[in-house]
Amino acid sequence: SLELRALAGELIGDQPDAWDRAGAIPEDLVRKLAEAGALCAEVPARYGGLGLSSAESGEFTAYVGSRCSSLRSLMTSQGMAAWTIQRLGDRGQRTEFLPRLTSGAVAAVGFSETGAGSDLSTMDTEIRSDGDSVVVDGHKVWVTAADYADLLVVFGRYEGGAAAAVVPATTPGVHVERVPEPMGCRAAGHANIRLDGVRLPAANLLGGAGQSTAMLVTTALAYGRISVAWGCVGILRACLAEVRGHAVSREQFGKPLGEHQLVARHVAELLVAEQSATRACEHASRRWDERSPEMVLATVLAKYVSSRQAADGAASAVQVLASAGARDSHPVARAYRDAKLMEIIEGSNEICQLILSEHVLAGAK
Ligand code: FAD
Repeated sequence: SLELRALAGELIGDQPDAWDRAGAIPEDLVRKLAEAGALCAEVPARYGGLGLSSAESGEFTAYVGSRCSSLRSLMTSQGMAAWTIQRLGDRGQRTEFLPRLTSGAVAAVGFSETGAGSDLSTMDTEIRSDGDSVVVDGHKVWVTAADYADLLVVFGRYEGGAAAAVVPATTPGVHVERVPEPMGCRAAGHANIRLDGVRLPAANLLGGAGQSTAMLVTTALAYGRISVAWGCVGILRACLAEVRGHAVSREQFGKPLGEHQLVARHVAELLVAEQSATRACEHASRRWDERSPEMVLATVLAKYVSSRQAADGAASAVQVLASAGARDSHPVARAYRDAKLMEIIEGSNEICQLILSEHVLAGAK
């Protein structure tokens, strides 16, 4: 994973501020990382992947997240698509789709709709079998990476339950339209997707079709959550580095900012935020690597802790840098906008709190 970090570091260089302002990452760079299997680094070697453990992949995700949350978002989407195919797909589907995701294809995952945000049981998108085909009709919103994607994993209603289908983005009836001016992760290619009578081979319908929405989306979301959580660790590390540099070099009232106790408190709180988010993520990744039944809860906990810490920590970083960081696309300004969105996606703070409290209360019954 050190080689992977070197490759990503070299490709990213000092460009994330410019990508944020342009609202796009150069496609050839995305393609190079996809070809190296770096966008979904946990896919096992038998499917052409790098086979990293959750802990190794998490540290790599944090590294990319410390440099560019938009690129890290593409990793989250690609990894979530791969994990969904690995878990729900049969052998043929795993063999067909996973090697594409480790050799250059880019993928996105669509659950959300205009009327179905936190409550995905109200999804309107319909997936139906029709002879040798499946047909998908619906409208997905805010799909990260969709503007770059070759493959879209689309969730919808299916025969009284739910299902997921793998939709090549070039299939007739697929219309992808960029979300204008997202507040953060501006180069992550968020798009709304209209699917009008999209006809696919039956083999593109993933396994588990007809099962409950909760069961199917939880599989995909679990990967998304741990990936976002590690990404937030990266945001905190970037903020800590910016604050450290500024607090020792900038002087006011005759001494470095860091020697003013109220500023020192921000520095200490940022370290606490970075360390507690890291520990929560390491704990969750260990549960993943053991395939422990506790992994789902540990992941929700990590996502909740990390995104809250990142949003608070990024706000403190902007405070400490003040005018030096108050410029659009400066690393702390990006961190501030990007981290706020991490409190909304893959299960908002409130939805995470409900899951955590349900766990506690169920234990009392
Ligand atoms: P709502 O569900 O309308 O919630 C509004 C507010 O009410 C929130 O604060 C929420 O926490 C709160 N709330 C809702 N229900 C409850 C409750 N029961 N109890 C307490 N509070 C509640 N979707 C995809 O499918 N794929 C993607 O790749 C993707 N990427 C995204 C990237 C970004 C940057 C953003 C902003 C969104 C993305 N989304 C994606 C959509 C995202 O999943 C939804 O925004 C999220 O699920 C919340 O839904 P909503 O925005 O409709 O808010």
